[in-house]
Amino acid sequence: MKNLSQKVLIVDDEKANRKILKELLQDEATIIFAKNGAQAVELARKHLPDLMLLDVIMPDRSGFEVIEEIKSDKKTMNISVIFVTGLANSDDEERGFDLGGCDYIYKPFKANIVIARVMMHLELIKQRKMLNEVAHLDALTGISNRRRMDIVLADELAANKRDHKKLAVALIDVDYFKHYNDHYGHGAGDAALKKVATSFREVLQRPRDFVARYGGEEFLIILPDSNIEGTQLIINNVMKALAEKAIKHEYSLASEFLTISIGAVIVESDQSITPADVLAKADKLLYQAKENGRNQLVIESL
Ligand SMILES: [Mg+2]
Repeated sequence: MKNLSQKVLIVDDEKANRKILKELLQDEATIIFAKNGAQAVELARKHLPDLMLLDVIMPDRSGFEVIEEIKSDKKTMNISVIFVTGLANSDDEERGFDLGGCDYIYKPFKANIVIARVMMHLELIKQRKMLNEVAHLDALTGISNRRRMDIVLADELAANKRDHKKLAVALIDVDYFKHYNDHYGHGAGDAALKKVATSFREVLQRPRDFVARYGGEEFLIILPDSNIEGTQLIINNVMKALAEKAIKHEYSLASEFLTISIGAVIVESDQSITPADVLAKADKLLYQAKENGRNQLVIESL
């Protein structure tokens, strides 16, 4: 069974070429077509293909101009580009690689070579994606890690400003976790952290809601388009989901079960604020929540 989850954008101004490439590749990937440079850029942004087969010579703009646009846009810059050309000119070839192309395919097409080259690049792209995903996941809990969090927090702060919304950022600490580990052992501690992560996943259902393991027993959640009331509701539901797991913690001074403390900040859209500022503020509120006896949320608008 072929995996057609990968997308290839074929860009060629000549219909006959598009047809040949389609016939060669339709069993290997989902195929999208563009018949000129402008359409290529438009469809690349819209579909975010894994790979583009890009004709060098087209009437409206050259493949070189197209790749410059693709590689200068943050959204499309990771699309791999194979140039398709009849020119066997080493200067042009060099230029294509300099601009970020990953390979060349020559016309007239030799079926085996086209398929072999495209398959090799699709495999590389797949492996790169998998590595990238692993690099951004926390190995214990399977949720995002700190590295991914840094990217998402910066992106969401920028989006919040642009979209004139409110953004909630909450820092969470498991109460008396050191006592838990000391008394029940690290294996039990790991299992408890997994259950805490599961509680977040159960409650955070909107596509852009985000949770990461921030470090040790600390977590961070980001809730785009959320005000104080909405954030309180979600955090209360997380606390409830965790309470339902009834993880016994006889060495906690906050409860007989494992609980969390939360410091949450609401960022208004008109604020220019750095991720470090947001985290520092959330950390302060978290500290207050602990001072107040733990197992609670302290939330403020920045
Ligand atoms: Mg052409």
